[in-house]
Amino acid sequence: MAADSTMPQDSKVSRRSLLAAAGAVAGGAALAGAPRVARAAGRSFDAEADVIVVGGGGAAFAAAVGAAQGGTRVLLLEKAAAIGGTTARSGGAYWVPNNHVMRREHGVRDPKEWAVKLMARLAFPSVYDPQAPYSGLDRFSHEALSSFYDLAPQVFERLERGGVIRSEIAALLPTQNATDGIDWTHPEYHAHLPENRAPYGRTLHPVGSEGGGGGSLMTGLATYARRQGVRVLTSQHVVQIATNSKGEVVGVQAQTPEGERLYRAKRAVVFGTGGFTQDRSKVMNYLRGPIFGGCAVPTNTGDFIDMASQLGARLGNMRNGFFVQHVLEQALANSSVVDDLWIPPGDAMVMVNRYGVRVASEKTPYNEHTQSHFVWDTTRGEYPNLVQFFVYDDVVANDPMQAYGMPIPVPGRRSPFVISGQTIGELASNIQKRLDKLRGRVAVNGAIGPSVRLADGFADNLSRTIERFNSYARDGRDPEFGRGSTPIQVSWGGPRRRGNDKNPSMYPFAGSGPYHCILIGGGTLDTNGGPVVDTNGRVLHVSGQPIKGLYGAGNCVASLAGQAYWSAGGTLGPGVALGFTAGENASSEPVKEV
Ligand SMILES: Cc1cc2nc3c(=O)[nH]c(=O)nc-3n(C[C@H](O)[C@H](O)[C@H](O)COP(=O)(O)OP(=O)(O)OC[C@H]3O[C@@H](n4cnc5c(N)ncnc54)[C@H](O)[C@@H]3O)c2cc1C
Repeated sequence: MAADSTMPQDSKVSRRSLLAAAGAVAGGAALAGAPRVARAAGRSFDAEADVIVVGGGGAAFAAAVGAAQGGTRVLLLEKAAAIGGTTARSGGAYWVPNNHVMRREHGVRDPKEWAVKLMARLAFPSVYDPQAPYSGLDRFSHEALSSFYDLAPQVFERLERGGVIRSEIAALLPTQNATDGIDWTHPEYHAHLPENRAPYGRTLHPVGSEGGGGGSLMTGLATYARRQGVRVLTSQHVVQIATNSKGEVVGVQAQTPEGERLYRAKRAVVFGTGGFTQDRSKVMNYLRGPIFGGCAVPTNTGDFIDMASQLGARLGNMRNGFFVQHVLEQALANSSVVDDLWIPPGDAMVMVNRYGVRVASEKTPYNEHTQSHFVWDTTRGEYPNLVQFFVYDDVVANDPMQAYGMPIPVPGRRSPFVISGQTIGELASNIQKRLDKLRGRVAVNGAIGPSVRLADGFADNLSRTIERFNSYARDGRDPEFGRGSTPIQVSWGGPRRRGNDKNPSMYPFAGSGPYHCILIGGGTLDTNGGPVVDTNGRVLHVSGQPIKGLYGAGNCVASLAGQAYWSAGGTLGPGVALGFTAGENASSEPVKEV
């Protein structure tokens, strides 16, 4: 989408007074943008709108749609050359508790008390106490969850009524077996928890968008926004927030191919600029575990954190992300990885660490599984699971049903990431050769340093691990990690192999090779920490008061989900619902003087 050069240059306000005021509010000399003030002094605004939305993904476009009601003029500024962000790459599913589709079309109830408890337990497990006030959470976090439960279904129902997005219950897998519109074989990721009283039906996606929902979601939002007159400018890298002498937000400054531009927001600015996965320094400093890359688009470098910090914003949830595993070599080649592992396919497969031992149920959903990479060995002083080794037999490799998903290539297709060996010993030796080749490669905050090598005895340990796994598979029970013991692990773990009447997620390895391995590293869909927002989407100052005229939603702000990935759609449900709300509230802000 090309930049819109028809934007009227209709403001007469001096740029000098504006950014000078921003300097005063944010602490003068400490303001990183101060030199730009001098260069730009004396020029008037390049364009004006009631509400400016920064970013061009799902949260930002939802904000633009929410703001563009009743004649509000909205200007949307996107850093990349095209809109869409990570949202356009996504499955486009959104998790909405108590949504209108589950209630009205399928009669499924989702009582608030239990839905909020479920969200609280998963978001803040270390303090969760179902008997305590606010379930053990601080009041602010609990209110955020409670408000999300009330608000999200209303937003998606309004989006449907307004003709923006029509939703249906998501059928996310080709193996789905839907009856009456609900795939009753497709449970939530945490369907087994006692707090989960509605384990089917909260995940929605745009009608008819199986497999390509991100594009459909973006098309719905962007088409509606444009129809409402939202002006969209691309190649606009917003670098600074402008404030008036009262500290109210009155615009933004952007770097563009044509030079710097200053945009006036009469009422408010809403940020939807994604997380910081693609900024190595922020990933190193904030995230609680080492990752090698992430699915976020290359432009998601956490710019809002820098800009909002200059205005004294409170930061939250910085250590968390929506975690996912990647093929290590893909992440090393490009930290913005398009592919990710949801739940690894295959029944005769294990994932082991550098000692050749399993570290988790291989079939746990991505956000949980990825955290197994972050385990710190206090005695050895190392991350033993930093790189994991996805090992599978040749039957899985050649069975199109077993090998239907990332990272195993479709049978018959070769992948440079697959390492093979006729025996486990040969496989181990080939894995070590590959690690030697990768030595020194550096990623977002992981590196193939000297510690990333197979430990002595890896091959013997791996053989013993496989023997033990085979006996578990024959029993149909994994006493170590409970593989296949929750509905999602069975539903998404791959098809049941003929003759396996026990646990479909496990099958004994073939007695002879070849065997195969793919190197796996931790990553994110994107991070989800940043400035803290209230239930209206207003960014809070460290004092606890809202920064007037500043809003945010999506992965650029502190997620109310804490460390959780509630289920499929757990990022876009809150992102779109809270983006829309932020936009709507921004449009009713009073006009700010400059
Ligand atoms: C393969 C895949 C499948 C996924 N499936 C799902 C799913 O089904 N459901 C789900 O909930 N999540 C899913 N996700 C995750 C989901 O895509 C993201 O969490 C979500 O899209 C984030 O939305 P956002 O609007 O916050 O950010 P983004 O969509 O990343 O948008 C941020 C935008 O801001 C722009 N920007 C950044 N900085 C600036 C700046 N300074 N100035 C101007 N613009 C800026 C960026 O260029 C980008 O366009 C998936 C991700 C992937 C990769």
